Amino acid sequence: MTATTSTSTPNTTKGSKTGQGDGVTKRDYYEILGVSRDASESEIKRAYRKKAKELHPDRNPQDRKRAEEEFKRVAEAYEVLSDPHKRAQYDRYGHAGPDQGFTFGDTDFKRAREAYREFGFGGFDDLFDLFFRQGSPRTATQQQRARRGENIEYKLRITLEDAAHGTRMRVTVLRLVTCRACSGSGMKPGTRKRTCPTCGGRGQIEYRQQSLLGSFINVRTCPECGGMGEVISEPCPACHGSGRVKEKSRISINVPAGVDTGSRLRLKGQGNAGIEGGEPGDLFIVIEIIPHPKFRRQDRDIHSKVRISYPQAALGAKIKVETLWGEEELKIPPGTQPGTVFRLSGKGVPNVHRRQGNGDHVVEVTVDVPTRLTQRQRRTLEEYAKTLE
Ligand SMILES: [Zn+2]
Ligand SMILES: [Zn+2]
Repeated sequence: MTATTSTSTPNTTKGSKTGQGDGVTKRDYYEILGVSRDASESEIKRAYRKKAKELHPDRNPQDRKRAEEEFKRVAEAYEVLSDPHKRAQYDRYGHAGPDQGFTFGDTDFKRAREAYREFGFGGFDDLFDLFFRQGSPRTATQQQRARRGENIEYKLRITLEDAAHGTRMRVTVLRLVTCRACSGSGMKPGTRKRTCPTCGGRGQIEYRQQSLLGSFINVRTCPECGGMGEVISEPCPACHGSGRVKEKSRISINVPAGVDTGSRLRLKGQGNAGIEGGEPGDLFIVIEIIPHPKFRRQDRDIHSKVRISYPQAALGAKIKVETLWGEEELKIPPGTQPGTVFRLSGKGVPNVHRRQGNGDHVVEVTVDVPTRLTQRQRRTLEEYAKTLE
């Protein structure tokens, strides 16, 4: 995290006017707050409060942008003058600070922010964040915090008939939704965030690392607050601070004609809710077809068997065949052999992408050999048998 908006050093000739170079473009902190150079800490705080109140956006509806800019200057002045160490440095060196590259604006405005909260201006807290996080490096961290919700898979068992015809159904899905009690913030309603104890609000942690070239200081994002510098002080009791709760949701699903076992239907945004303003995940409906008692599916074709009598096979017949689309008439030609296959064109399953027509219904014929015969049938068959000798 480096300089904020207003702390830019003008490009002056090297070595000239160090310390005062900034003074040309930057106003004196005491002047900004309207206090004398020997003002006490409480005078400085009072002055800050007064200015903050005057610059409240609600009071400056015509001139918000200017009020915001001025407020940033006021907060920066307070940040420096309220800290005895920084104030001493400022008194001594002016805006440039003691070192090259050091800037007073180079902070989170932690003190200014905290004092500000004590003032208790309604709704102003968020504005403070808004003013200072716009365009600052923090925004990137904030976006990293927002996470997309997880995808969910839901296994849906349907009949072969429904798969062939397409159907609409309602299912109950257990998923994480944004907590209504805290609107997803994870904070107990009425509480605020507090400065992260691990990083002291800086959002980063320095640690010493040993290498062959010696030890050096490394900086990484604070794991406790994820770089935000603030943590939840009291978690929301409804979601235990996670910002999401489990909920059973009724979801209506359009199952297109032609799906098969393993087909996946994507319902965008119907998965788990996102975290910290992230997008919701997707819901994937994974189809499983319940085995059919009579039909076997092979891609778009349906296979079934039909039994005919020996005379039907020998003499030919018209029979009814059950398909997914109702009963169909099938002509059995005379002399049909067992195992003969007939195709009922277009009576299979549609192509799910509608790129091709329906498959076929494939019927395999089995011929019943009679097991019990009446006297008369027996005699007739014997007569028939004699004709074959
Ligand atoms: Zn932290
Ligand atoms: Zn909650």
